[in-house]
Amino acid sequence: MKVCVIRFTIAVTVAVAIYPSSAHAFSDDTGRDLVAIGSPIRPAPADPAIAHALQQISPQQIQHTIETLVGFHTRNTLSSMTKDLPSGQGVSAAADWIESEFKRYSDACGGCLEVRRDTFTESPQSRIPQATTITNVYAILRGSDPTQSKRMVLVTGHYDSRNSDTLDTHGEAPGANDDASGVAVSLECARVLSKIKFPATIIFAAVAGEEQGLNGSRHLANLAKSDGWNLEAVLNNDIVGGNTTPGDALQNKSLVRVFSEGIPVSAASDQAKLIQSLGYESDSPSRELARMILGVSETYHGIGNVRKSGSPTYFHPVLEFRRDRFLRGGDHTSFNGEGFAAVRFTEWREDFNHQHQNMRTENGIEYGDTLKFVDFQYVAHVAALNAATLATLAYAPPPPENAGIVTKNLDNNTTFKWSAADTPSGTKYEVVWREMTAPSWQFFTDKDITPSGSSGDYSITLPISKDNVIFGIRSVDSQGHRSPAVAPMPERELNH
Ligand SMILES: [Zn+2]
Repeated sequence: MKVCVIRFTIAVTVAVAIYPSSAHAFSDDTGRDLVAIGSPIRPAPADPAIAHALQQISPQQIQHTIETLVGFHTRNTLSSMTKDLPSGQGVSAAADWIESEFKRYSDACGGCLEVRRDTFTESPQSRIPQATTITNVYAILRGSDPTQSKRMVLVTGHYDSRNSDTLDTHGEAPGANDDASGVAVSLECARVLSKIKFPATIIFAAVAGEEQGLNGSRHLANLAKSDGWNLEAVLNNDIVGGNTTPGDALQNKSLVRVFSEGIPVSAASDQAKLIQSLGYESDSPSRELARMILGVSETYHGIGNVRKSGSPTYFHPVLEFRRDRFLRGGDHTSFNGEGFAAVRFTEWREDFNHQHQNMRTENGIEYGDTLKFVDFQYVAHVAALNAATLATLAYAPPPPENAGIVTKNLDNNTTFKWSAADTPSGTKYEVVWREMTAPSWQFFTDKDITPSGSSGDYSITLPISKDNVIFGIRSVDSQGHRSPAVAPMPERELNH
């Protein structure tokens, strides 16, 4: 303990000595200590390999994927048990095609993808009248670094569809937007990112059973949990077609919503109480992932299919600080339920006449989730943002471990500590912070933070009160790939 106290004292001295005082354009309401050190956060530099991959994203390829999926007539999950559908129709035919598509991408990269088909039987439940086989299809781009490859990130969409009747196994259910668009994002990410080697592992998934009760994603999330996957992030794309309804002047093709949970649904009651007591309701791992996606979009604006900032074609995520839309759920919640960080991408403005509807025209209104209401260029923008995020996560070092704020004494300074395990050489760390009412990170420590000793432990003290801001700590590699931030938890003593 004595040694630790000495180290702590040194850290204070170093921190105060190396951070220059600098003025920033903040309002008079901003405490001076918040801006006394550090620098405003700026976008990370674009990685040329990621930028090149984004330029390969093809609206035409996305259109081909969505048209092919619509061509299966129905992808109702229950159709796996029907015997009388014509050949080439139904959810099983769609699964076959998705599997073949992953294999095609893998052939193009020398067998770099491990293609898996996971079929399981779901017992009868409210929207599943009889025991039903459900198939998840996914492709694994295994990380090239033996240590980092244990870390995984995952992108998913659901390939099942439905019409007005969720039990209808034969009626037409094109599901062009919900959710062939999300599957197209996952497949297009697989196609363009499989040409790159990443240290960490990326999984590209297409799940079924979403419309029956999130069955496929729950199965996959359970598998990830029971097999001990080190799954750091899940990107769920559901209804990302950029719904195009003639006359809808309020649609905005420049925006995609990113939903993230606040207090994790997986938090035990004592954890939830701690989160509330700290004012950490907006700092779940899922929300830090959402903030990271915002940062990625700022880096890759104007590259490939990520539109340029300031132009009429500007495309960017809007962080929605709630788990999902009113009355609706999605596959990310299956992963949240198992304690994984997971967010949902959805178009800005949905048209509910074009979801979960039988194909028909009534009083001049066209119902049905058909191709004509999907904007393939919009889906390409969403795919580019997903690909940039997956690639950044897979390149970035692991987030800091055991991130803590030392709360030994009442103090206007804030002392942090964290540790680094299995971290690539060259990994650096940044403490980031924001005002309590700010949605995303504003400032960061702009000088190197060196380990406190040979054990890989880090400690630093900043002259900012932990009572007035929210802090995070994140990892950065030498090329500028940033991990999501981790919210440091209070610790009464330096115990390492
Ligand atoms: Zn959906």
